[in-house]
Amino acid sequence: MRVVADRDTCIASGMCMLAAPRLFEQDEEDGRVILLTESIEPSDADAVLKAVAHCPSGALSLLGE
Ligand code: SF4
Repeated sequence: MRVVADRDTCIASGMCMLAAPRLFEQDEEDGRVILLTESIEPSDADAVLKAVAHCPSGALSLLGE
């Protein structure tokens, strides 16, 4: 499974970072998402699903499910 973050769509809510802090950070300047890794380990699957579900802007997408 891979995750993709569209920074143009991100509204800097920070929900993804709260749900999956090992996978997402917020840019210190504009607050938008920074993807730490595209490739999701099985142990992070639940966290990334939660992050995608809670993203208010639809900026996060999963590939290869
Ligand atoms: S949850 Fe969505 S809108 Fe919020 S920071 Fe993450 S990618 Fe951006």
